[in-house]
Amino acid sequence: MRFKIKIKKQCHCLICFNDLFHDFSFQSINLNDIPICNTCFNQFEIANIQDTINNYSIWYLYYYNDFIKKLVYQYKGCYDIELAPVFLAYFLEKIKKEYKDYYIVYPPSSDKDNKERGFIHVKEIAKHINNNVYDIFIKKEHYKQSDVSYKDRVHIKDYIDIHDYQILENKKILLLDDIYTSGNTIKACINLIVKNVGHFKDLKIICIAKTRKKNVEI
Ligand SMILES: [Zn+2]
Repeated sequence: MRFKIKIKKQCHCLICFNDLFHDFSFQSINLNDIPICNTCFNQFEIANIQDTINNYSIWYLYYYNDFIKKLVYQYKGCYDIELAPVFLAYFLEKIKKEYKDYYIVYPPSSDKDNKERGFIHVKEIAKHINNNVYDIFIKKEHYKQSDVSYKDRVHIKDYIDIHDYQILENKKILLLDDIYTSGNTIKACINLIVKNVGHFKDLKIICIAKTRKKNVEI
């Protein structure tokens, strides 16, 4: 008689690199097959808030906190592409099921940053939901959201444009964003979709982390 031994592919936490079983817990083995230790998991502040923005539904997964701030830096600033799945981890199976036939788009990041980094950060996260991920937004000028003051972000819509949006005709659209602060970027993207895509079946927004205050350093 032969026994099948299931070998775990990944035994270390993707975030802190500690052995996953140093704090073995229910959560650390139940995060939709994404290896995150309990210590790291507990630092995510789950928001799970459903709201509306420009009359479209928006789902905020977590609150933005120091842990998410460091995680985003590790991912975007230190080019740790392996972290892409951890941002949706807790909700991944639910999101994959609900949005399996959605076309996913995301706000633009600068070409310069993308080239330096070697990947488009929200796109890599989106690929874990399904394969219909489209790069339709562009930045007209190089700006960094963290470089502009809250007041100036009101004008962000002037710096974003849309192209190749015909792909979204008659489709269900999911707009995925990483951090929600003023909401101006998301609103600009929604407006561009509504204005340019003739007909779409649905438009939903998921935002990974929401700041508690409006004017916050990110
Ligand atoms: Zn960890």
